[in-house]
Amino acid sequence: MTKVSFFGAAGEVTGSNFLVETDATKYIVDCGLFQGKDYITDLNDQPLPYNAAEVSAVMVTHAHLDHIGRLPKLVRDGYRGPIYATEATIELATIVLKDAMGLSTERSEREGKPVLYEEVDLNRTLHQFQSVPYHQPRKLSNGDQFTFYDAGHILGSASVLLEAGGKQLIFSGDIGHWPSPLLAEPDPPQPSSAGADLIITEATYGGETHQPDDRLNVVKNALEWTIQNRGVLLIPAFSIERSQELLFLLHELFEHHQLPKIPIFLDSPLAIEALAVFERHLELYRKAVVDEAHGGHDMFDFRGLVLTPAVEDSKDISQQPAPKVIIAGSGMMAGGRITHHLKRYLSHPNTYLLIIGFQAPGTMGSAILGGAKAVHIHGEEVPVRAKIVVAEAFSGHADNPQLMQWLQKIPLNTNGKLAIVHSEPERAEHFLTFAQSHLPNHPIIVPKIGTMIEV
Ligand SMILES: [Zn+2]
Repeated sequence: MTKVSFFGAAGEVTGSNFLVETDATKYIVDCGLFQGKDYITDLNDQPLPYNAAEVSAVMVTHAHLDHIGRLPKLVRDGYRGPIYATEATIELATIVLKDAMGLSTERSEREGKPVLYEEVDLNRTLHQFQSVPYHQPRKLSNGDQFTFYDAGHILGSASVLLEAGGKQLIFSGDIGHWPSPLLAEPDPPQPSSAGADLIITEATYGGETHQPDDRLNVVKNALEWTIQNRGVLLIPAFSIERSQELLFLLHELFEHHQLPKIPIFLDSPLAIEALAVFERHLELYRKAVVDEAHGGHDMFDFRGLVLTPAVEDSKDISQQPAPKVIIAGSGMMAGGRITHHLKRYLSHPNTYLLIIGFQAPGTMGSAILGGAKAVHIHGEEVPVRAKIVVAEAFSGHADNPQLMQWLQKIPLNTNGKLAIVHSEPERAEHFLTFAQSHLPNHPIIVPKIGTMIEV
């Protein structure tokens, strides 16, 4: 008997954590942080609902914090086995987990909450990582094995086919939204001819269809407006993937669309650090990008680009004359350097605020999206006079039609089941309706925290 239990991303989109039990052993897929309005929510302080020391292997789908943020906690609780991920995921996870430790320590000092883990746990975790390329089955104990497939979500992201206890289990990870300027289309896992026994799929955008905007066009329009109005283009962006993708698009516009070069500031230490990983893994991009890179095209570096890792350099950005572009975190405007730029520029009518990411309820981003006339930043009321543009094209997640396309490419066993995770309840219900019409004779489950499915 193989069993899968859901201890995160069940009834919500964060905290991904799945336990697989066979008669012989236990595995974990993802061990992410619960996040909401707070970067680290209190749910993370709860003990893990299983014995970490009994787990024999961990598989990680990608380097986003809501998929890796509790790995050091798992190690702290006694997990000493391998943590399998792609090379790029390991490199990005190293940056992301170090940053998260700092934030966990700050939270502890500010609110008296316990730290999630300490440096010794983090260092152990990083040593336990082992890299596995796409499409290469990796043997586990007792004849079990797993294979990674490109999920097209962020650099190095994977879906997992886990063959455990004689059953074929598929974990989607986060499925990318294509076409992406950099990444290839998601590559759905292919179980052996019997078909999968259980598919666990994300449904972040269940029931939704993204506007069919072209990402390059979105940035082109924003850039042209900014140049014409001698304004400031502000782009709050997540540090991993979105920031690097923006640089790639801006480079394209300057090189191939003859737009006048204006200064671009990448004002995010995390995004700057991650840039090196993106430059090292050219093999992971879609074919046209790889060909261009091999032709000597430096994808992320161009005249006019200024990286500002130090706080002093960041402060100097305001001295630079407009027009200019500032890319800074956090993506939800909930903190980080973007707040300083918003405080300075949000009240100017020649500011263009380009919102490209999800804005969680309660964040400043969602208030601005909701049409707030003014927002409070660092104790000051700042009127919103900037031009606000929202671009869904940048979503990192497949929409409903794409989720269905991904699902339809995976053969399911006649007794196979589907579980819908990583989704708000309403969106999971929408996706359930679509999935039922595609798989009318199969059980489809929307698990809650603690739900266990026997396969
Ligand atoms: Zn993700």
